Amino acid sequence: MSVDQSDVRAVAGAIRDAETVVALTGAGVSTASGIPDFRGEDGIWERHDPMDFHIDRFRSDPGGFWDDRVKLLAAAFDDGNVAPNAAHEALAELESAGYLDTVVTQNIDGLHQDAGSEGVIEIHGSAARVVCRDCSRRFDAEPAMERARDGDLPPTCDDCDGTLKPDTVLFGEQLPEHALMQSQAKAENADVFLAVGSSLTVQPAASLPRVAAERGATLVLVNLESTPVSERADYDLRADVTEALPRLRQAVKE
Ligand SMILES: [Zn+2]
Repeated sequence: MSVDQSDVRAVAGAIRDAETVVALTGAGVSTASGIPDFRGEDGIWERHDPMDFHIDRFRSDPGGFWDDRVKLLAAAFDDGNVAPNAAHEALAELESAGYLDTVVTQNIDGLHQDAGSEGVIEIHGSAARVVCRDCSRRFDAEPAMERARDGDLPPTCDDCDGTLKPDTVLFGEQLPEHALMQSQAKAENADVFLAVGSSLTVQPAASLPRVAAERGATLVLVNLESTPVSERADYDLRADVTEALPRLRQAVKE
């Protein structure tokens, strides 16, 4: 599947003319780095029981939860050997060149930041951080993961000895309200809204492109498959994100 170069040029022109460009990224951006889709066919939740990762399990058995969590993340993130791909890099370069305002991501892997993106809103949280249940301080996840791998279960807060929780949205938890409000505001303000590698079926990702389009944004989809928002899109680029985004970045710079 290949993208029409005249579409790429047209989208690049809209990005250059725009004051505010917002990108929403979903699982398709992570799968290109070898991270399996959590929800899809053959996804993580086909092989692991979602109830083991429910907030109720964490509350009743945090040690068992962390033990399972360590195994889940080792499988999902290939023991930490995952790296940003050409799509992450293109978005980071668009941002540093002043063409992209914000990345709103459904992904929890932190690869946008690893690629150099700074304006990132993580609506499902981040596996790169943990949060203390008692004092609410946030820490890098790696030392907690290390302790959990060594059998120190559950890992606890250095400050107050409270139980640490992954700073991701677990099953049974609400999405972070602040991040949701921020993403909504970004979508309302966007002149160009790029939805990249998302099936646009899970809220709030499903509604953000519609919000942007209703406020007059040029709506651009980059995804291998059609989405429920496809008929609303000004440009519906059915392509691999690692092919389309570098071409788009190149066209914006030309
Ligand atoms: Zn604490």
